[in-house]
Amino acid sequence: MSLTLRVYVPSHPLIKHWLSVARDESTPTVLFRSAMTELGRWLTYEATRDWLPTTESEVQTPLAPCPATFIDPEVPIVVVPILRAGLALLDGAQALLPLASIYHVGLVRNEETLEASCYLNKLPEQMPPGTRVLVTDPMLATGGSSHSLLKLLVERGVDPSLIRIVAVVAAPQALQLLGADFPALSIFTAAIDEGLNDRGYIVPGLGDAGDRTFGT
Ligand code: URA
Repeated sequence: MSLTLRVYVPSHPLIKHWLSVARDESTPTVLFRSAMTELGRWLTYEATRDWLPTTESEVQTPLAPCPATFIDPEVPIVVVPILRAGLALLDGAQALLPLASIYHVGLVRNEETLEASCYLNKLPEQMPPGTRVLVTDPMLATGGSSHSLLKLLVERGVDPSLIRIVAVVAAPQALQLLGADFPALSIFTAAIDEGLNDRGYIVPGLGDAGDRTFGT
């Protein structure tokens, strides 16, 4: 069976609203941070729809027994924010996945070559089979950082079809790179933009997501 990368751009007014707030260059840092938290929340909501494992049982309501569906506590759920900008989406993701384990990975891109290199890796040596991994990476520009992280995850036993990337803006270059090497992956993004400028920034994008989140 051949697989093709799945890219979802949920058509939700809250996602559109917070994306527009984030794109606006006059948005101050404190509001930009709120916009990223909200985008993290709503994109995670969409990304978890067919991904969170459930288990069937029964509860007793005050009136009668009733079939019940719960999140399966046996299946590990992991969130990996790619530092630094991925932290901006973490609060929103954690609000929906309060029991997820958080593993931080720091990847920085060389501004000349645009290659990503890893400066922090808190991933465990191995992840149990069936582990669901949600990656937060707001700007999929070249896709280099997410690509490096996906390699680390697959080396640790994660099935790419169980990985969801939550991004705010994606460029076609990133989708092509990730789709070529990880066709079973799913990406949830608020927008797919035109492309990259000569410094590797997404156009129109929203600028430097890390700088705008942290006011640096
Ligand atoms: N990283 C960002 O923060 N913004 C871009 O446009 C590209 C990469």
